[in-house]
Amino acid sequence: MKPDTLVCLDLEGVLVPEIWIEVSQRTGIGALSRTTRDEPDYDKLMQGRLAILAEHRLRLADLQAVIATMGPMPGARDFLDALRAQCQVVILSDTFYEFAAPLMAQLGRPTLFCHRLEADAEGFVSGYRLRMPDQKRLAVEAFRSLNFHVIAAGDSFNDTSMLGAAHAGIFFCPPESIVKQFPQFPVTRDYAALGAAIRAAAPV
Ligand SMILES: [Mg+2]
Repeated sequence: MKPDTLVCLDLEGVLVPEIWIEVSQRTGIGALSRTTRDEPDYDKLMQGRLAILAEHRLRLADLQAVIATMGPMPGARDFLDALRAQCQVVILSDTFYEFAAPLMAQLGRPTLFCHRLEADAEGFVSGYRLRMPDQKRLAVEAFRSLNFHVIAAGDSFNDTSMLGAAHAGIFFCPPESIVKQFPQFPVTRDYAALGAAIRAAAPV
């Protein structure tokens, strides 16, 4: 691939499992399993999550302990290493640095743009700080303004604006409802197919 090809990857559902679903399963709190797949309004989703954490008296450290036991999806590290050998890769995610750190270590510490969580003096999650609204799309547009050829891949509603802003957008293991809503994006379901779609979309 040409050196000015830049691939923007979503994190959850592409390289690592959905963090909130894992937290839901490991804490037994079913209501935490809602994701951007269920609720496209991100602020509504996050305010609901924070209310549930407060109700169950879960501290940030409790969540981090759960996340530390997760790993990337099988094959994710090899896929990412091979991709990073061919072009620039930036991970654009709506997760939080406080959540992602142990998983990024297992992925070889690729570049990650995401958001921040805020905790109070007792360690309870008190809020969240978005880098900016719609940062995925705005990052892709900024990379394009720097003359990168941008290829983006993601699995969910919160990726569709960056897929649309990129020179090429690719779905990876999306739910069927989203495939029907956004038929313009090709669908891949394993890393071999995603890698092939990225290479096909790269300038020669
Ligand atoms: Mg995702």
